Amino acid sequence: MELESMQGLKRTHQCGSLSRKEAGSAVVLTGWVARRRDHGGLIFVDLRDRSGIVQVVFSPDDQDAFAKAESLRSEYVVAVAGTVRVRPEGTENPKLATGDVEVVAREVRILNRARTPVFYIEDGIEVDENLRLRYRYLDLRRPEMQAALAFRHRAAKVVRDFLDSRGFWEIETPFLTRSTPEGARDFLVPSRLNPGKFYALPQSPQLFKQLLMVSGVERYFQVVRCFRDEDLRADRQPEFTQIDLEMSFVDSEDVMMLIEELMAAVCCQAAGVEIETPFPRLTYREALDRFGTDKPDLRYGLELRDVSDVAAGCAFKVFQAAVAAGGQVRGIRVPGCAGYSRKDLDELTQYAVRHGAKGLAYFLYTENGLKSPIAKFFSAGELEILIQRLEAAPGDLLLFVADTPEVVATALSALRREMAARLGLVDQSRLAFVWVHDFPLLEYDDAEKRFVAVHHPFTAPVDEDLELLRSAPEKVRARAYDLVLNGVEIGGGSIRIHRRDIQELLFAVIGLAPEEAREKFGFLLDAFEYGTPPHGGFAVGFDRLVMLLAGKKTIRDVMAFPKTQSGTDLLTGAPGAVAPAQLEELGVRVAAKRFGNGLKS
Ligand code: ASP
Repeated sequence: MELESMQGLKRTHQCGSLSRKEAGSAVVLTGWVARRRDHGGLIFVDLRDRSGIVQVVFSPDDQDAFAKAESLRSEYVVAVAGTVRVRPEGTENPKLATGDVEVVAREVRILNRARTPVFYIEDGIEVDENLRLRYRYLDLRRPEMQAALAFRHRAAKVVRDFLDSRGFWEIETPFLTRSTPEGARDFLVPSRLNPGKFYALPQSPQLFKQLLMVSGVERYFQVVRCFRDEDLRADRQPEFTQIDLEMSFVDSEDVMMLIEELMAAVCCQAAGVEIETPFPRLTYREALDRFGTDKPDLRYGLELRDVSDVAAGCAFKVFQAAVAAGGQVRGIRVPGCAGYSRKDLDELTQYAVRHGAKGLAYFLYTENGLKSPIAKFFSAGELEILIQRLEAAPGDLLLFVADTPEVVATALSALRREMAARLGLVDQSRLAFVWVHDFPLLEYDDAEKRFVAVHHPFTAPVDEDLELLRSAPEKVRARAYDLVLNGVEIGGGSIRIHRRDIQELLFAVIGLAPEEAREKFGFLLDAFEYGTPPHGGFAVGFDRLVMLLAGKKTIRDVMAFPKTQSGTDLLTGAPGAVAPAQLEELGVRVAAKRFGNGLKS
């Protein structure tokens, strides 16, 4: 059968919009055949467009239309003209939004045919994600993916409207630029016009937004793509989107308050959820002490408690030695798990080991007190302190890790997450925002043997700590703040350095030689000499925010065309080989031995 055109037919309604109100109306619908059923001499077609699905009925009385309907297959694209009617009593479909009605077809036109799709175009399919990525256009046709795209659009619109209402201007900044250090590797683009030279794709618009403050823009924002060439462990993408903003003449409080209002607007207007402001705040120290991480999930308790003092004095060598070596012993109380078997506990130990611990000490709090293979190394008084310190009750399981503070924090925070998930302590309906602030400005990088910026090297130190920059850089606090939602870091920002002398000093402290600093960041240092307002800002990881608000498990489910863990795009096949002539033109040669020659054969 020939394919037909839509000529003379104009779509009047969206499939998902029909209800009893339209009964009796003549309509023209367009969309995809979700399903065809032949039943009792009639043909039923579920017609789908992005608004939803409606049932279309073909009866043999209309011979032409009926014959065509017989040839319809899944995912054919059709236009249907017909009349809406209320479904006969007893045949309504409560699972369908349009389930009270159906469209009696008078005419159908086949606009395009389709091969059998490689997976079902419906929600909740269980297919290999790589297949979904390869056929992303089919995957995105599924209602849950369409809903995710629509939600993302809505969220971005709320962000833009909100920031506009607060006097922010959206200003685009270059993608082809110089390195903007955010702690990842740069993606480089060779310059044909300047052979041997490279642009770097921005890891963020950090330097440009600061320059816009020097330009007198005062309030800038951008929903912007950032590029970071990182190993894609965890849930990361080489290109991702930030809500990036910067403000002049502000302090941390102003920025944090604005971000809280922005979050409240997005949650309410895009997701229909009211959230409470102000958000709780934790200092970096407190977050590590109580949760073992600077990205704490506040939807449940299971807080960490320090028992290093008891450990130092007890007769258990492992505990004693850890504390003597400058380490710690800390623990968590897991309610109601005193019945754990040897096997359960072995499993938990393995889990702790996978997260860096050398082992896991445990006590089962039974009616007869604390039971453990190591209980004999503790006096009754010491056991009592453990119980008090962890506020334990009979029935609880107490877990302890002894090691350096870093190892203890990492292992216990992983255990805390794991146990909360196992015990169903995570309230999935909650949005638990928390600020983490008072970060150190710098940390010592053992591998590089120098101080590195914890945020980025444009973050201002707390005024009182300025003196320490030379004498004790590790003690300097940053005017920086991170926003965490349900245990996921969804943004970070800071007040910036806006004086050349301080910026130069900071570069020196992180081991950047003056010539190198001038070479890489001379334009910023120069700009600081032409009247720079104090300024600060923030960037929200938009993909992560949308993922959490949409209740998705990965950011890939809220991105139209994401890449795999190895950075490839299975749909287009990027990254791909290039023609030798292209490389020649760019003045670039590929080291054949190391990388394969990367050329098209
Ligand atoms: N540029 C920073 C980032 O990408 C955010 C900021 O400091 O505003 O994390």
